[in-house]
Amino acid sequence: MIGKRLLTETEEVVRRDMMDAERYRRLLTQTGLKNTKARILVLHILDHASSPMAADEIFLCLKKIEPSANLSTVYRTLETLLKKEIVLKTTLMDDSKSRYEFNRREHKHHLVCICCNHVIPVMGCPIDEYAKSLCSREGFEPAGHRLEIYGVCGRCKKE
Ligand SMILES: [Zn+2]
Ligand SMILES: [Zn+2]
Repeated sequence: MIGKRLLTETEEVVRRDMMDAERYRRLLTQTGLKNTKARILVLHILDHASSPMAADEIFLCLKKIEPSANLSTVYRTLETLLKKEIVLKTTLMDDSKSRYEFNRREHKHHLVCICCNHVIPVMGCPIDEYAKSLCSREGFEPAGHRLEIYGVCGRCKKE
């Protein structure tokens, strides 16, 4: 019984991954990009990341799936995905590294630790109402917004 349930769960994960891959393929096609393995894998990694990732972190993940991958492919892939806004680039304060995240259209906010660069995602949007009323007052058509709060995380504060 347990074995059967495990198998079903594994099948479920595989099925979900296949659906994901299909979603990335469609996304690439819609934006006029060719489907390459590197692009699909990079999208998969960023889509499942809990916080924005630096190129070398993406590379380490990619290498686990695709041992022949190299860092310049990662950079090239990111540049292409950036141009089509499939991926967004952020630079955290006190950190020269660019970080990349999957553009979910539905946006996200973060708390960013300036000591260890730990990024904590914020659930929901705390300023949505404010942004809407501000924009309507100014007759401004909003296209989006960003909000990051910088500070020291609980772990760093203790040290
Ligand atoms: Zn910290
Ligand atoms: Zn927001």
